[in-house]
Amino acid sequence: MKKKTSKKLKKRTATIKEIYGENVFSLKTMRRYLSDKTFRSLKATIQEGCPLNPGIADEMADAMKTWALSKGATHFTHWFQPLTGATAEKHDSFIIPDTEGGVILQFSGEELVKGEPDASSFPSGGLRASFEARGYTAWDPTSPAFIKKTKKSATLCIPTAFYSYHGEALDKKTPLLRSIQVLSRQVSRLGKLFGVRAVNKRAHATLGVEQEYFLIDKKFYHKRLDLIQTGRTLFGRKPAKHQQMGDHYFGIIKKRVLDFMEDLDRELWRLGIPSKTRHNEVCPGQFEIAPMFEEQNLSVDHNMMVMEMLRQVAEQHGFICLLHEKPYAGVNGSGKHNNWSVVGPDGRNWLQPGNNPRENAKFITVICALMKAIDTYAPLLRASVASAGNDHRLGSSEAPPSILSIFLGEQLSDVIEQIEKGTTGSSPKRGVIKIGVTSLAPFPRDITDRNRTSPFAFTGNKFEFRAVGSNQSCAEANIVLNTIVADALDEICGKLEKALRGGKNFNTALQAILRDIIKKHKRILFNGDNYSAKWLAEARKRGLPNLRTTEEALEALRDEKVVALFKKHKVLSEHELKSRYEIFKEQYKKTIDIEAGCALTMAKTMIVPPAVEYERRLIEVINGAESCDLKPVRARQLLKKVCSEMENTLSGVKKLEKSIKGSSSRRIIKDMDALRRSGDELEGLLPQNLWELPSYAKMMFLR
Ligand code: ADP
Ligand code: MG
Repeated sequence: MKKKTSKKLKKRTATIKEIYGENVFSLKTMRRYLSDKTFRSLKATIQEGCPLNPGIADEMADAMKTWALSKGATHFTHWFQPLTGATAEKHDSFIIPDTEGGVILQFSGEELVKGEPDASSFPSGGLRASFEARGYTAWDPTSPAFIKKTKKSATLCIPTAFYSYHGEALDKKTPLLRSIQVLSRQVSRLGKLFGVRAVNKRAHATLGVEQEYFLIDKKFYHKRLDLIQTGRTLFGRKPAKHQQMGDHYFGIIKKRVLDFMEDLDRELWRLGIPSKTRHNEVCPGQFEIAPMFEEQNLSVDHNMMVMEMLRQVAEQHGFICLLHEKPYAGVNGSGKHNNWSVVGPDGRNWLQPGNNPRENAKFITVICALMKAIDTYAPLLRASVASAGNDHRLGSSEAPPSILSIFLGEQLSDVIEQIEKGTTGSSPKRGVIKIGVTSLAPFPRDITDRNRTSPFAFTGNKFEFRAVGSNQSCAEANIVLNTIVADALDEICGKLEKALRGGKNFNTALQAILRDIIKKHKRILFNGDNYSAKWLAEARKRGLPNLRTTEEALEALRDEKVVALFKKHKVLSEHELKSRYEIFKEQYKKTIDIEAGCALTMAKTMIVPPAVEYERRLIEVINGAESCDLKPVRARQLLKKVCSEMENTLSGVKKLEKSIKGSSSRRIIKDMDALRRSGDELEGLLPQNLWELPSYAKMMFLR
């Protein structure tokens, strides 16, 4: 019996090992298809950030093609991430007709390295006039090509950056790659100052993305015009029981959902995405998936694919996956936790407190750089997660507020405080902290991980930025994080280098620099409950910005300081930044307009008609009762109530129809909310068999 089980187990492990990465042209696979020389050159580009040798393109393309054909691929595509926030692809088959009526299959180095999609319909925010419709895609060798499979098709996808004729970024990857380089440079510079022994040519950022999502039964989804059109419910009453009991969170996963998750994990593993954790989330029908962290650029790409696979696999199981930040009003919405850290040229995590004074000093320096970065550029970081969907979530006691602050935990805060106080020393327990001399006691992870309300929390060996929306690409947040941290490091390194040139002692100079930073930026630290009203008041007192809406937040992109920051580090030119501002503003406005249009249609065609019918029936009943000399007092009251809510709905329609024609988005949202209130009242009054929209209870509680 025992023998049998272990054999079975062995087979199962072998299967996971076998399928892992089978659809990825990873280094492991490449080794089999490339000459030694080309393999080594590419590996250096991928792992060390060495420039790509253009001479290898043809061999690489040929290898990719051979591998892709062996996997059944017929087409290839440059896979990119335009500013729509989604991914984009245009497929070309490998075929070239030969002269004898047959075909040869071809994929050249040129086709691998550069593409020219007609891109006139992608948002460019004025970066590209439509007469020069061309956009270009350029191969990103640091994110491996992969094969997307459906039952009938297999397509070779090549991750690419997307830019205009003049080389301006039209996508999310280009500035992300630039920001990674900028961060890498500054981290290496700091490493040099600390005398770190480099084992890699470059430092890099790591990212682990926890992704929340909802599942809903397909048959209900297709009855909800709002979900189909906007991704969220524009009407719907909260049911008596929703998430109050806390019994869904980490609860037993229903078989149907588990089957879905199992298939999902397998599909992700095939794509080399290290899916690790799966569980039920707070709201019924809500779940989370978290892959292991990876190099940041790869992790951003992988998260885009996770979202795609979530949708695809859900459909195979009769579900629809909702990635909107707030599918249901009044209960938890979905976000992403963006776990960010940085690996130095020594190949080690620099947010891991070290075990000697020197390493601790480096660790504290990075912590201080983050304090400086977040405090200085809080509005910009807030802007990086601004969207119509996320506006519903931030600050509604399920996600952090729109005020940025940093949670360091008690012990680390204590250390920071001691450094600020300098040689006077405040903590009798551990005495005075001298940078580069004192060893820090290790921070237990469980202590640093308790606060779940902070938007930016130190969780033992990484920072967790918790304000990213579930539907958003992580690129924007990480472009900002990398750049602002690099900028802070740049200043720290500059000062340190100057002090050293002036003959100052390293530790003394560093201590003074860090002390200054702490003094200036300690207002950004907060270990308490970020959901409380007290914090709102306290944050105001500290002068921390609270940008509640997307419209307010996006203004940060026009701040001179921000323009200068991106320009200085060459992450985004002024022109590129301006175009982004325009695009994000327009996207926001369009989203609100679509929601308003959809709400109107629903009110007029799905909410008012059953109300009219119910009124008619009630009138009939009342007339009938009165003709029998009865006094239907309560029925009259009910009729009155229905009539009045229908009147409210109709006047709500009128108001919204007016505001949609040119009022501010704020006004439109207000009118939409009012319309929803009367619509939801009607849902609570009308007989179920007249109400065609599936209820919240039906949609949330999966069967
Ligand atoms: P939580 O308590 O929030 O669930 P976990 O420890 O499970 O946190 O990790 C959440 C995510 O953080 C995972 O994707 C994990 O791989 C990632 N993570 C862990 N270490 C790092 C790191 N050094 N850099 C980036 N992400 C990391
Ligand atoms: Mg988390």
